[in-house]
Amino acid sequence: MLRAGLGQDVHRLVKGRRFLLGGVELPARKGELGHSDGDALAHAVCDAILGAVGLGDIGSLFPPSDPAWKDADSMALLRSAFEMVKQAGWRVVNLDCVVCCEKPKLLPYRDSIRQSLAKALEVSTDQIFVKGKTGEGLGPVGKGKTVEALAVCLLEKQTDKGGPDETKN
Ligand code: MG
Repeated sequence: MLRAGLGQDVHRLVKGRRFLLGGVELPARKGELGHSDGDALAHAVCDAILGAVGLGDIGSLFPPSDPAWKDADSMALLRSAFEMVKQAGWRVVNLDCVVCCEKPKLLPYRDSIRQSLAKALEVSTDQIFVKGKTGEGLGPVGKGKTVEALAVCLLEKQTDKGGPDETKN
């Protein structure tokens, strides 16, 4: 059985914060504002995998109102979400992502980001893709005020590895 999940996230960019994408820190003048470390890509991927399986979303599992998640490592949240997905009998087929931000250019960091996400989702790097888009100087992305991440993930149920009986679903 196959299922697709979609995730999206936006964070404001401010001075004095780290700019993290999929667990990789990029050199930048501004970074993501957030209750957690603000890693917009990790959050979008988290929602994509959880949404595909119907297990909730990042806001319900790790609410920003809970002090436990203050400055949380978003890749740890992603690994924890993936653990739930895996326990439910699912594996990632592929993940495709778009990151919209004006600066810096993503290309030099793309492979590191792919490797980081691949490690967290226990797949090979060729099952993960990430591309950067600018806002062409327009809107909050183009003005450098925000970063937006989009993720679409295809998951497959592993019925041969102890997952729930498909006939009951
Ligand atoms: Mg977020």
